Amino acid sequence: MSETKHNWTKEEILNIYNKPLMELLYEAATVHRLHHDPNTVQVSTLLSIKTGGCPEDCGYCPQAARYHTNVEGNDLMSVQQVKAQALRAKSSGSSRVCMGAAWRNVKDGEEFDQVLEMVRTINKLDMEVCCTLGMITENQAQRLAEAGLYAYNHNLDSSEEYYKEVISTRGFEDRLETIDNVRKTNVTVCSGGIIGMGEKVEDRAGMLVALSTLNPQPESVPINALVAVEGTPLEDQEPISIWDMIRMVATTRIIMPETQVRLSAGRTEMTREGQAMCFFAGANSIFAGDKLLTTPNPDVNEDMKMFELLGLNAQKPFIKKMQPETVEATDSKYQALGEKPKWTRPEHTIERNEVAKQKAKVVK
Ligand code: SF4
Repeated sequence: MSETKHNWTKEEILNIYNKPLMELLYEAATVHRLHHDPNTVQVSTLLSIKTGGCPEDCGYCPQAARYHTNVEGNDLMSVQQVKAQALRAKSSGSSRVCMGAAWRNVKDGEEFDQVLEMVRTINKLDMEVCCTLGMITENQAQRLAEAGLYAYNHNLDSSEEYYKEVISTRGFEDRLETIDNVRKTNVTVCSGGIIGMGEKVEDRAGMLVALSTLNPQPESVPINALVAVEGTPLEDQEPISIWDMIRMVATTRIIMPETQVRLSAGRTEMTREGQAMCFFAGANSIFAGDKLLTTPNPDVNEDMKMFELLGLNAQKPFIKKMQPETVEATDSKYQALGEKPKWTRPEHTIERNEVAKQKAKVVK
């Protein structure tokens, strides 16, 4: 097995992305077979444990409080509600539960303690637990690790250059810092991005440079196709073509051979044939459940029928890494520090985000 390369350049990645399709697919499928079982796909269930009301201005996100969308906000779910949903996910074949909260960053206190309890509860169900809670400090990452967290998701979204065209309320470097904080623990890193936000192919390559030059590379990389939601700044973006998705998946597979490449948002727009080509190109993870936080996703039964048709099996939990132990809150060796880290607040404004914000003020 060849050693993973950590110094990919944008030019090298573009050369791969732009190869004749058959050559690209063949190369990606070959790399895939060297590192993974091509008939096994990891299934995750994404659960929105706290929906809407987010202070950030991510141009693609219906949960940002400043835009007017159909998303109804909810307070943090209870541990019992989360446990019930996790059990349901487990019985329908998911090996991982990913809990998402629409927060800019984690704040120490009751709500975070409740999330830690959710992590303990799901880990005890022998499922992989992932959280996506926004920016976190090293201390918060340690506390999550101690509770039994398996993965932390924090997407880079796009290239550093294009990031500034989508989000103005925090900087790309904040993303990297959170990933770095997670890396100081034994929690695995899940980080990817979104295509179809109006970025150039060079930006897609730029994002892949940022991800693939992390050492170690993220254990999972979700590739999302933008779901353009009415009321968000990106509501008028045309859907990307399946060929872009296939090229993105194949390129990600080649440059990050060990990573689980996850087909994420946008699957409802893909045919089974399109998804099958993505699996052939090296995707080996999906999100199950009829909703991805707030946007639609194929029905679980539809996915199971597709697995049967393609001869795919759902991956068992803890195949790639051992199950972490759960330390109870009373035995924790980490105190809540109540830190107020200086996450950046960039000064620039993004015109389309401002337009969407003004429109929302009129509607609300
Ligand atoms: S993507 Fe996350 S941080 Fe950005 S607005 Fe949505 S919930 Fe907030």
